[in-house]
Amino acid sequence: MHGHDLLVVGSANADLVIHVDRRPDAGETVLGSDLATHPGGKGANQAVAAARLGARTALLARVGDDAHGRLLTGSLTSAGVDTTRVLSGDTPTGVALITVDPSGDNSIVVSPGANARLTPADVAGARELLAAARVVSLQLEIPLESVAAAVAAATEAGTRIVLNPSPPAALPREVLAGCDPIVVNEHEARVLLGPEAGDTPEAWAAGLLALGPRSVVVTLGAAGALAATADGTVRIPSPRVAAVDTTGAGDSFTGALAWRLGAGDDLVTAVRFAVRVGAAAVKKPGAQESFPTLEEVGQL
Ligand code: ADP
Repeated sequence: MHGHDLLVVGSANADLVIHVDRRPDAGETVLGSDLATHPGGKGANQAVAAARLGARTALLARVGDDAHGRLLTGSLTSAGVDTTRVLSGDTPTGVALITVDPSGDNSIVVSPGANARLTPADVAGARELLAAARVVSLQLEIPLESVAAAVAAATEAGTRIVLNPSPPAALPREVLAGCDPIVVNEHEARVLLGPEAGDTPEAWAAGLLALGPRSVVVTLGAAGALAATADGTVRIPSPRVAAVDTTGAGDSFTGALAWRLGAGDDLVTAVRFAVRVGAAAVKKPGAQESFPTLEEVGQL
C-alpha cells in the first residue's frame, strides 16, 4: 500500500473573522468590517503546511455537508493534501467566530460541530492508513477518546506520534507515553504544568518530560524553540524576520516538524527546519495562506 509521509488526525474549521472598533457588551450590537472566511482548524492547518512543503500528506477529519466543508476540502486539495478521509456528514463544519479589535487582540467562540463527531470508529476505519504512514500528527480539537484511539493504533503499528496538546487538557499517561514529541507553546506548557510550572522553557520541558512523553518541543515565538529529551535540552533560535501575522505559526511549525521526523531527521535537525518554516509563515498575513513552500523556506 502507498504510505503517506504524514497522516494528520484532527480538526477542520472555518474561521469567520470580523474587525470591530470594540466588542459588544451583553445585549448590545456593534457594527464591524466585512466578513472574511478562512480555512482553519489545527488539523487542516498542519496538513496544508506539510503538503505545501512537499510532504505526501493525508488528513483524517470530519466536516459538514455544507459550504464551509467545501471551502476546507478545496483548500486542502489545492495544497495537495489527500482528502479521501475528510469525512462529511449532517453536523455542520466546525466554526471559529473571531472578532479582532484595533489593538489586534482576538476574541474567539468555537463551535466544534463535525469535529466533535470524529469518533474512535472513524480512527479504526483509517487503521491501514495509520499503519502505512511514517508519522501521525494529533492535536486536541477532536474528542479525546479519538486521540487516544489514534495513539493506540499508531503505537501498535510502530508509527511515530507527534502531539500538539492544544487546546491544553490533562491527558492520560499512556497517551503521553506514546508521543515523540509533544509540541507546546508557552501558554500550553503553563496550563499543562499548573502553578508549579517554573519560569524558564528548560523548566517547562523538564516538567513536561516527567509527564511521560519521549521528547518535548517548546515553541518560543520570535525566540525559536527548545528540543528536550532525557539526554538533554537544546535551544534553537528562529531566523529574524519582520512578523506581520503569527496566526497559524505553531501549526506550520508542527506540520513541518512531523514531516521531517518521519523522513528520518533527528529531533534537533527537524526543529531547526521547523523554526524556519514558522518564521516564513509569520512574514505573510493569514494562516494557511501564509504557509511557505520549500523554496520560500530556503530563501529566508
Ligand atoms: P503558536 O503559534 O502556537 O503560539 P509560537 O508563537 O511559539 O507558537 O510560534 C511557533 C514558531 O513560529 C516559533 O517556534 C518560530 O519558529 C516561529 N515564529 C513565531 N513568531 C515568530 C516571530 N515573531 N519571528 C520569527 N519566528 C516566529
